[in-house]
Amino acid sequence: MSDVFYWVITIGDEGQTIPQFDYETGKVNKITSFPKNIITKIAWYPFTQDIINKIKSAGIDTSNFIINPFLPKYEINIPENAYPVIEPMKEGWVDVISFQKCLKCGHEFKFNPEEHKTVFVKHMGRETITCPNCGGGDEFVCSNCGFATRDNTDYPEICPKCGKKAKWKFKRNIVNQTKIERHMIYKLGYVQNGQLHGITIKENGDVVC
Ligand SMILES: [Zn+2]
Ligand SMILES: [Zn+2]
Repeated sequence: MSDVFYWVITIGDEGQTIPQFDYETGKVNKITSFPKNIITKIAWYPFTQDIINKIKSAGIDTSNFIINPFLPKYEINIPENAYPVIEPMKEGWVDVISFQKCLKCGHEFKFNPEEHKTVFVKHMGRETITCPNCGGGDEFVCSNCGFATRDNTDYPEICPKCGKKAKWKFKRNIVNQTKIERHMIYKLGYVQNGQLHGITIKENGDVVC
């Protein structure tokens, strides 16, 4: 059972259309009731709340159905000697994305060495990244008074704020993070001579090919 589309087939010479779920009662029409070779067209429509309500009222479990408003309606004519793919084929995968987060302003960005790197090969020999949103970055903090500076080269011994001998603590404000992105594509079409013809749709409605 597909979770975002339901099918609508057109059969016979008269062009009668039969939806997977009856538009009035929500009841299931079984695809196996129709010989494949009389299907002339198949359409996949994304679920709507209205249809899901109808299906629910027919006593069918709809918990796996997802309403994705980005998905297009898609229909395709079935050539002779071909048969439709009834259930869209789903392919899912996961990407691990690494990115930087600025703890000063919360901005998330992808580190670009040309734009974001400020080299502070200074007091503690560190290189730091500059946040493209707030301009902040890793800092040296005076352990006496909390004064923070991105570059403490000019005052290695004495803190300019409290005037005391400073112990500089390195405070990391740009941190590396990762997140997981889940992707799903749907392949719709028909099979002819063992080959799938049709299109691939992303979850955001973009047609890939
Ligand atoms: Zn920032
Ligand atoms: Zn200080």
